[in-house]
Amino acid sequence: MEIRKAFASAGAFSFSPRPQLRAALPSTILSMPSPLLSFDEAFALVAQCASRLAANGPASERIDLGQAAGRVLAQPICADSDQPPFARSTRDGFACRALEASAHNFLALTGSVRAGDAPAKPLAAGSACEIMTGAPVPDGADAVAMVEHVEVVGGRVRLLKPRKLVGGENLVARGAQAKAGDELLPAGTSIGAAQIALAASCGYASVEVFVRPRVAILTTGDELVPVDAAPGPGQIRNSNAPMLAAMVAAAGGDPWVLPAAADNAAALDVALTRAASADLLLISGGVSAGKFDLVEPALARIGAQFHFTGVRIQPGKPLVFGELPRPDGPSLPFFGLPGNPISSAVTFLLFAAQVLGALSGNRASGPRFALAQLAKTTDRKTKPGLTRFLPACCTFSSVDGQPPTVAQVPWHGSGDLGAFAQSNCFLVIPEHAAHLEEGEIVRILLP
Ligand code: AMP
Ligand code: MG
Repeated sequence: MEIRKAFASAGAFSFSPRPQLRAALPSTILSMPSPLLSFDEAFALVAQCASRLAANGPASERIDLGQAAGRVLAQPICADSDQPPFARSTRDGFACRALEASAHNFLALTGSVRAGDAPAKPLAAGSACEIMTGAPVPDGADAVAMVEHVEVVGGRVRLLKPRKLVGGENLVARGAQAKAGDELLPAGTSIGAAQIALAASCGYASVEVFVRPRVAILTTGDELVPVDAAPGPGQIRNSNAPMLAAMVAAAGGDPWVLPAAADNAAALDVALTRAASADLLLISGGVSAGKFDLVEPALARIGAQFHFTGVRIQPGKPLVFGELPRPDGPSLPFFGLPGNPISSAVTFLLFAAQVLGALSGNRASGPRFALAQLAKTTDRKTKPGLTRFLPACCTFSSVDGQPPTVAQVPWHGSGDLGAFAQSNCFLVIPEHAAHLEEGEIVRILLP
């Protein structure tokens, strides 16, 4: 019953049941066409679900500004006063009237004002006032002549020929950056150093931020042992758990690493039940076509609705995306990430990070693509019908006019952690590309 419900909700378009599920399916469903989604189709579907899942908005909490890096604003940041709060000199020099200074006559020096001083009295005609960077420009002055551009003789100052000054030069007028009460950052902005500086300048000692979504990370596989255990024959260390935890934290989530589950129905049932209180569930492994890939039937047993069970990408083709309905709250979105580490990483970046970003309240989340010039590829052949994401290294040149270049990192498939660790991006090979030529502009996916 549960299984049928799950399949009824799965669009015929996107649904491709695994062999171990086929036995349990009604023949009508099995006869439905089940082409895999293209990358673009899957991407659009995930984006649509992400915005629906984010509709309620996460809860918020107040934290010290110093702790806010990496969080998402749950409140707008508004200017508490004009910015700058006074006309501010941007140079060491002499506050003056631009027209008077440009006539190259001597101006009488009437005083000196430094950063932190209260504004000097209004500037009389035919005079200038010594001023330091950051100090308030006195009323009456409309420019600052740089100290390097003047001569000072016996209490008088003159702009050197042939220099001219224009009104507004070397100062920022009061309120030029913002007026008191202006919204400077909307809620949903991801907080980094620049946003912290702006909030500090407006007097926000603490800020309201969205609570980080709790992301359950469930790795599966009989072969897995923890990092601190010595693998026996045929066993490997569980590298996906710490990798995904790091990716989740970097994308604004609160990683909740569950004990790895064995490849049997009972272990998966227990683990999935435990994970059901999360905001997002990432399962690694067990979604391919092998005899012991049992994650989908386990999800179906607890009423999962599958949006898709495969995408035409490499690595990561068996990717599963769906939702687990919860009687007492919003449904739990889940991804079944293929277990090979690079498959898990690519599918997380392309798809899961989108949902995580939306659940975090982040207005500008989603994968970051860029263009680069192809320097080297060891894998020129395309695989028709698959969009490929190959570990690559992008070099950002410091030479003006030189675009970033990207070189594919030689690899031994999607389990090659060494190649992955040497890469800093993925080279994207479009589904319909005939072949790639060195020197051409290609698309890259940044982590
Ligand atoms: P699966 O998706 O379960 O068929 O696994 C595909 C490959 O990824 C197999 O070689 C697994 O041993 C490997 N793998 C699965 N899970 C992990 C993990 N947590 N850490 C490292 N490798 C894994
Ligand atoms: Mg497995």
